Amino acid sequence: MREKVPTKMAAVAQSAPKQEPIDGYDALIVGGGISGMYQLYRLRELGMKVRVFEAGSDLGGTWYWNRYPGARFDSESWSYGFAFSEEVLQEWSWPEHFAAQPDTLRYLEYVADKFDFRRDMTFNATVVQALFDDADSRWTITLANGERYRAPLLITGLGPLSAFTLPNIPDRDSFKGPAFHTARWPHEPVDFAGKRVGIIGTGATAIQTIQTIAPKVGHLTVFQRTPNWASPLHNARITEEEQRRIKASYAEIFERCRNTQTCFIHDTDPRKAMDVTPEEREAFWEKLYSEPGFGIWVGNFKDVLTDPEANKLASDFMARKIRERVKDQDVATKLIPKNHGFGTRRLPLESGYYEVYNQDNVLLVDINDDPIERITPTGVKTRDNAYDFDILIYATGFDGVTGPYDRIDICGSGGRRLKDEWADMPKTLLGVQTVGYPNLFMILGPHTARGNIPRNIEEIVDWVTGMIKYMREHGLTHAEPRPEAAADWAVHVEKASEGLLSSKVASWQTGVNRNVDGRQVLRVLGYNGGVLKYRAKCEAVAAGGYKEFLLK
Ligand code: NAP
Repeated sequence: MREKVPTKMAAVAQSAPKQEPIDGYDALIVGGGISGMYQLYRLRELGMKVRVFEAGSDLGGTWYWNRYPGARFDSESWSYGFAFSEEVLQEWSWPEHFAAQPDTLRYLEYVADKFDFRRDMTFNATVVQALFDDADSRWTITLANGERYRAPLLITGLGPLSAFTLPNIPDRDSFKGPAFHTARWPHEPVDFAGKRVGIIGTGATAIQTIQTIAPKVGHLTVFQRTPNWASPLHNARITEEEQRRIKASYAEIFERCRNTQTCFIHDTDPRKAMDVTPEEREAFWEKLYSEPGFGIWVGNFKDVLTDPEANKLASDFMARKIRERVKDQDVATKLIPKNHGFGTRRLPLESGYYEVYNQDNVLLVDINDDPIERITPTGVKTRDNAYDFDILIYATGFDGVTGPYDRIDICGSGGRRLKDEWADMPKTLLGVQTVGYPNLFMILGPHTARGNIPRNIEEIVDWVTGMIKYMREHGLTHAEPRPEAAADWAVHVEKASEGLLSSKVASWQTGVNRNVDGRQVLRVLGYNGGVLKYRAKCEAVAAGGYKEFLLK
């Protein structure tokens, strides 16, 4: 079997014959993931005629594409699902506190069936171009197959992590065996029994994959460039009694999420790390380490992610944990991050990841010591060694946040190009619109607050829907940010990132991806002032009649 790893996104359909755009829609939505589904639901409520375009053969977005072994939530399942329907909340039973990808996809399909979402969705529809026509104030999108659609409103629900990236390693396509990027995992099961497997990458995706396939493979070789801090997930099945309690308390769960900085159920501890004795600090961290979910990341002392000294103490604690769990101390040393502090990248949650390295049939290769030179027909050639594999896995991540926008040729007023205008830094107002691209609304675009993603999506979709409703009620057909308001927002976004240790660390969240033209410049891609401030800003704009936007 020879699997083709998709090397390029669909190219602009230049050769396809130009047909007349299909008209008659009030809005076009790009992306059939959680954003697209919920935006469709809300716009239907306004009585609008909407069409959703999805590149996959079905809906689900992240949970459709990321079928790699072990893919699962890092949010508590019961804090993750859609909140808009009490009926859904009562009918659906999450099997585990942190659901696995097949269950999440099943959940999204169940919601889609219930509300008949697919009726308004086109699948296998990769949008390659979006052009704004100043003459009639409408957007025309072009699909990879050449079909075109036109409507006054264009809404993107592209997801921050949908533009996957393959490693820029020479001869990457020469491997003769099956090779998979984790975000394009086959729909059929992959048999790992007795196989020699190589995996490149050690991010959250790789960690879930490695710990899941390690018990099955013949031999596993992990190629690591940067180790990440990881903490135990502590997943468990939901008992009947817990299920009853969860279903009875959704209102409180969502209210709790609404009032934390990241919309997770965990919230920052009001104390600083130095406010307590070393013994109390250790006991607190032990407690967080033994509890499920992100508590140790977003429920830690309030200065752990801002004060280098507090962060160093937390990093030392985590390093001790790695040393305790990994028998070979040379391997443990390799697994301890050196170039970034604990929590300054989104924290992977693991289940037995470190213990994998105690298996005799698992090898960790630090490619800083022995760099990968090229992919070969039989495996991977490093400077000093050659490794033969039956299966090769690329867990090499994504061109985060702006990548999905860069992969569509988006041209706004007067033919301006979004990719060029955002090359150094995305420019937005509240992360929902950008100057010069009228009537283009982004769901979870750059400069929005991100954490527990569906909670963030619901808030933004509701806000965008409110603005569209306002426009319809006032007979307005054109909306774009006022340049001065967008400039103020840009300053505010920059300021909100200051003081955060993560702002200085290379990751998909700061826009670093060496596989994309060697890009290493750090950019501000999120709104880092927290959900509460972000919400307050959005609400103030809406309450003031959207004066920061040019509406006509
Ligand atoms: P990632 O965190 O960006 O990790 C990519 C990995 O590939 C890194 O270890 C990176 O090394 C390595 N890599 C990339 N190019 C390479 C090259 N040319 N040579 C060698 N190594 C290379 O991506 P991810 O693991 O897919 O995770 C992305 C995000 O997805 C996470 O932060 C999280 O938000 C989300 N996620 C969530 C869950 C969940 O639990 N719900 C699970 C998976 C992912 P460097 O670090 O050195 O670049």
